[in-house]
Order: sequence, then structure tokens, then C-alpha cells
Amino acid sequence: MHIDTKCIQSGYTPENGEPRVLPIYQSTTWKYASTEQMGKLFDLEESGYFYTRLANPTNDAVAAKIADLEGGVAAMLTSSGQAACFYSLFNICQAGDHFICSSSVYGGTFNLFGVTMKKMGIDVTFVDPDADEETLHQAFRENTKAMFGETIANPALVVLDIEKWAKIAHAHQVPLIIDNTFATPVNCRPFEWGADIVVHSTTKYMDGHATSVGGAIVDSGNFDWEASGKFPGLTTPDASYHGITYTEKFGKAAFITKATAQVMRDLGSIPSPHNAFLLNLGLETLPLRMKKHCDNAQAVAEYLAKNEKVSWVSYCGLPGDKYHDLAQKYLPNGSCGVISFGVKGGREAAVTFMDSLKLAAIVTHVADARTSVLHPASHTHRQLNDEELKAAGVTSDLIRFSVGIENAEDIIADIQQALDQVK
Ligand SMILES: *Cc1c(COP(=O)(O)O)cnc(C)c1O
Repeated sequence: MHIDTKCIQSGYTPENGEPRVLPIYQSTTWKYASTEQMGKLFDLEESGYFYTRLANPTNDAVAAKIADLEGGVAAMLTSSGQAACFYSLFNICQAGDHFICSSSVYGGTFNLFGVTMKKMGIDVTFVDPDADEETLHQAFRENTKAMFGETIANPALVVLDIEKWAKIAHAHQVPLIIDNTFATPVNCRPFEWGADIVVHSTTKYMDGHATSVGGAIVDSGNFDWEASGKFPGLTTPDASYHGITYTEKFGKAAFITKATAQVMRDLGSIPSPHNAFLLNLGLETLPLRMKKHCDNAQAVAEYLAKNEKVSWVSYCGLPGDKYHDLAQKYLPNGSCGVISFGVKGGREAAVTFMDSLKLAAIVTHVADARTSVLHPASHTHRQLNDEELKAAGVTSDLIRFSVGIENAEDIIADIQQALDQVK
């Protein structure tokens, strides 16, 4: 099936007489006839539902749809993109381990990895996403367990050379984890380029309407967890699960089964089934919306690039953009609706411009149906110092403009009148 068909049909197939639309199983628990049957569920001997923290049919159907969209073998939903990023690493890293991350990542991810996970004893090295192979190889240590990057970095809009990163990760027998939030599987499927695990903040385009915070982790099923001996959590008995060895018992589903049975069981960042239902509605129209977001963003970027009050524009759809070639390779049908740019006059001009917008709203959010705008240096990336901002590709004049699916002429007219206010 094509991806637009999967967005509608995957994940839930009703039987005769069942509801046509995915039902919301708003129940914490399930009833069983015997103690023995319930025991088998707890031992992972039988599959079935018993408690929503571990599994829920609504959540599972939406996870199955996302797995299908990415071309993976299994997926799990989390209550936020932050939880998805954390779980994807914590599932294979413990105190004393290390991983490598692109320095151009979402501000929340940068803090999670660089501060909070460090407190847990898991160390990270941030590397320039454009670094040459030699430099990337040098970042590896004996205890390195993964590489992590974003397909299109939020907000720096760096396009990652996924194939190159996958090759390097695999040379060191570790998986490449890709945050595919901005591209969505409609515009890029990282598994096709060698990535092993994909994570999402479904809060953005997937939900698409700014209603529900959520995340997802998808496993390609391709990574060999056994070959290197680096992943004992997956390949040796789990004492907290009666000695189950995940790779032995679950094969290609080992990563997601462990993430569910162990990490989610203990940390519990599950989405509400009602939020999963809303996410599913968003997924149904994702291909239509992504096309419109990309068409509109292209028009806005071209307009900005010609405007004399604008000092620079970053959008990989522009032919002169630093990441245009990588975008041609990885994002041939469009990238995303997010553009970053600077207005002549720096931080002060940025503030005047933003405060003058009428249609575009100042919100923290990005990547939904309504055009929105943000100044990362004073908002999302506020916790970072100047050096960290620079490493994250965020200058103090950077305006993150998230182009919605309104009419492009109205969006451009709004930008025009706001730029007129900048003297
Ligand atoms: C927003 C975002 C996150 C965090 O997701 P939440 O749903 O806000 O927790 C992670 N990665 C990227 C690329 C994001 O844009």
C-alpha cells in the first residue's frame, strides 16, 4: 500500500459488526475468568490486555499504524516526544554508558541528554552533524551504545546525512536512532537509509492540530543486538521478568517488547487512549497536510529570500540553501513547514517583527495547522548559554516560523505588514 492509504487503513481493521472507527478503550484494566490466565499474561506467556500502562488496544492500533508508516516491525506510543527520546536510549544504555548525538537537536532533547541523563551516569558527546567521517569515528568510546540525530533539526533545520551516520554507527556495532518529527514518514523514512530506531514527537505534524502531546518509538527490526555483546539488557536474562531474554523470546520485536515490559512498566509515560484517538485522526490527513505545509513554506521562503529587510533565510527547499543537496536526496517530495530566518537589526528587529504579526501567533508550539512563530533564543532555547546556542545552530536573531495550512497569500501578507513595522 502507498503511504496515504496506510495513513487511513493501517493499525485497525474491524471484524464483522465492529465499529468502523477505532474505538477509545478508556479503561485502565481488563477482566479475566481465572487467576491462571491472568498469571500467563503477566509472564508474557500469552498476549492480551490487562493494564493500560503496559498495553491498551487504542494505543496499540495507533502504534501499529506508525510502525507501518515508517516501515518498521513494532512501535510504542509514549506520553510525549521527550519520553520517546529518553526511552529509546534508556532501553539500551545504563549508568557508565555513552552515546553520540548531533549538536543540532531540539532544545529539550539537548537538556535531557546533556544534563538530566548525565546525572543518571549516562554520558553524551555532542558532535557537529556536518562533521566528516573521521571526526565522527573519533567520538566513539569503548562504552558507546548509540548515535542519535534529527532528520531535520528543530529549529536549526540542518538535514542529517542519515546514510553516512548509519554507516558509521554500524562500523562500531551500535544503532542509529533518528528523531523524524519534522519530516514525518510522509517525507522521509529513515529506515530506508539505514537508521535502526525512529522516534517522534507526535505532538507536531502527526497530531497536526495542537491538541495532544505525545511520542512514538519505532523499531526497524534490522539491528543485530547479539553480534557485539554490547547490549546485555536485551541479550541476557532480565531478572525483573523471571529471566526472560528479550532477543531469544521476541526476535525482531525484542527492542519494543523490552521498552514496554521494562522501561514503560517502571517509568510509566503512557498516553491516554483518548489522546491516541486524536493522534489517529491527525495521522489520517497527514499526507494532505504535509503537502500543503511544504507548498506554503516554499512560497514563504522564496518571498523572504527576496525581501531586503531579511538578512538570511534557512529552508532546505531553497536552491541556494546549505542543505539543499541533502534535502534532494532524503526529502525529494518536500521537507517540512518550518523556516528559520533573521531580520536585519538582530534581536530587537526580531521582536518588533514578531509583535507586529496578526495571523501568525506567538506560541511555543511548532508544526501544526496554524501558522505560528517563536524566538528560540528567548523561548525554547532560553536555558542554553551563547556557546550552546551556537552549537545548536541557533543565533540570537533566529526567528522560527512554522508555516500553517492557511492560504499562502494571507500568510505572506501578514509577514509583509509586520516587516513594514521594522524600521
Ligand atoms: C517537540 C520535539 C521534541 C519533544 O517532544 P514533546 O512532544 O514536546 O515532548 C523532540 N524532538 C523534536 C524534534 C521536537 O520537535
